[in-house]
Order: sequence, then structure tokens, then C-alpha cells
Amino acid sequence: MQALTNRVKVVERKPMSLWERLYIPAILKGMAITFSHIFKKKPTINYPEKKRPFSPVFRGLQILNRDEEGRENCTACGLCAVACPAEAITMEAAERAPGEEHLYREEKYAAKYEINMLRCIFCGLCEEACPKDAIYLSETFTPADYQRKQFIYNKTDLLIPHPQEDPEAYKKALGNRAKNQTVN
Ligand code: SF4
Ligand code: SF4
Repeated sequence: MQALTNRVKVVERKPMSLWERLYIPAILKGMAITFSHIFKKKPTINYPEKKRPFSPVFRGLQILNRDEEGRENCTACGLCAVACPAEAITMEAAERAPGEEHLYREEKYAAKYEINMLRCIFCGLCEEACPKDAIYLSETFTPADYQRKQFIYNKTDLLIPHPQEDPEAYKKALGNRAKNQTVN
């Protein structure tokens, strides 16, 4: 067969020598490589008992934020949904009723807020677009599941724990943001 380039290299299969046919040197060489790794530092960790620190720019599961009094920040303006390149966010707005001032910070709030995690590419544009510091990408993974419908996260799944009712969980959900949390 004619070669199209001059890069072809014909490899000849030579018969094995007696030394090679013994196999023992090759086995010893392989074992030496294995033993040389025993005393080296392990590159693996015992996940999930141990976890590596996240990169400062890690973007994980979205959280819907509350203010320090526990009121929902989101005003259902829709800017996050418009900014989302994957069209993963849907919401329905509602008017705050008298007496609900302790629940919602603004006069409008998201009665329904959903993110389709199968569409989300964790780009962070929803966080950047939000004028109310109402959504951010946390340092948490989206858990695995067997059913597609379980990846439609609603408000209950996304809302941060109440800072006064469960301060520990609230602080944990804030992660690194707890250090530089500001009130808008
Ligand atoms: S992280 Fe990106 S893809 Fe995911 S919901 Fe936000 S804007 Fe959409
Ligand atoms: S999360 Fe922010 S951008 Fe999205 S609807 Fe709520 S207030 Fe608007």
C-alpha cells in the first residue's frame, strides 16, 4: 500500500529474547514501580468524609436569599430569567398583602420560583443580573437523583434557611458570603 506521507514507520515484531521470555524482570520492574508509590502522598481523598476546599470562583447550587430579618429579598422582577442563557428560570409574581411585611422585603415577591437544574449551566449570570442580592450561587453541589422531575427546584428547595429560626443552617448556606454580607 502506498503511503500518503513520509511519517509512516514500519514496526518489526522481533522474536522475544530468553531474558524477555522469563517475564520475571518485567514483573519485578512493575512491582518496583508499585512499591515506589506506597510512600508517596496520596492524590486521592476519602470523599465524602473529607472534602477539598472550593475554588473562590466555584459556582454551585442557587440560593434564594433573605435579609437579616428573614424576609425574602426577591421582588420577582424577572431580570435573572431574562439574563439566563439556558432559560432555566421561571417565576410568578404576586403582590405583598398587608401584614406580610415580615415575609417579603419588597411590595412584590415571587409566589413561584423554579430553576430547572438540568438546563442550568452554572454560569452565574442570574446572580449578576439580580439588583436585590436575592439569588446567588453557593458552594453546594446539586445532588444526584434518578428522576428528571426532581431537578426542577422550587422555592422551598432554593430558599435559604431563616436566619433567626435556624441561624446555623443560614450561616452554612451563606458560606464565604457570611464574611462580607451587606444589607441592601
Ligand atoms: S447559573 Fe446561569 S444557567 Fe443557571 S440559572 Fe443562573 S443564569 Fe441560568
Ligand atoms: S432573583 Fe433577583 S433578578 Fe431574579 S426575580 Fe428575584 S429580584 Fe429579580
